[in-house]
Amino acid sequence: MDHLTKEKRSWNMSRIRSQETTPEIIFRKLIHRAGFRYRLYDKTLPGKPDLVLKKHRTVVFIHGCFWHGHKNCERGNRPKTHKNFWNKKIEGNIARDNKNRIKLRKIGWRVFTVWECELKNLDSIFAKFKKFIKSV
Ligand SMILES: [Zn+2]
Repeated sequence: MDHLTKEKRSWNMSRIRSQETTPEIIFRKLIHRAGFRYRLYDKTLPGKPDLVLKKHRTVVFIHGCFWHGHKNCERGNRPKTHKNFWNKKIEGNIARDNKNRIKLRKIGWRVFTVWECELKNLDSIFAKFKKFIKSV
């Protein structure tokens, strides 16, 4: 009873794979394994943080380097064409991120940002995260 064509099936498989390896899910799995518990996308908080660790009064944003304008990062390089368009768009995101960070801190949340490129080294990003959690 398998009526998916080969092509369709491999397309489905690749979709599943890519969903499982988004930066967000990689980081989520990493800290979940270590026993951290969190809520996802709390709409009541500024910027709808990707993860909310209530117990630690910490929110986590997992940022794509390109869209959030990671500085000094190869993945954060802007396209050479349509410069004004991209600058406006990405600067807008950076400004919004900053504003949300300030708002969250004002109401007593600590803000941890994970850049997509930092997930190349899971040991190092996890060490950084643990240090942040403990540094209250
Ligand atoms: Zn980066």
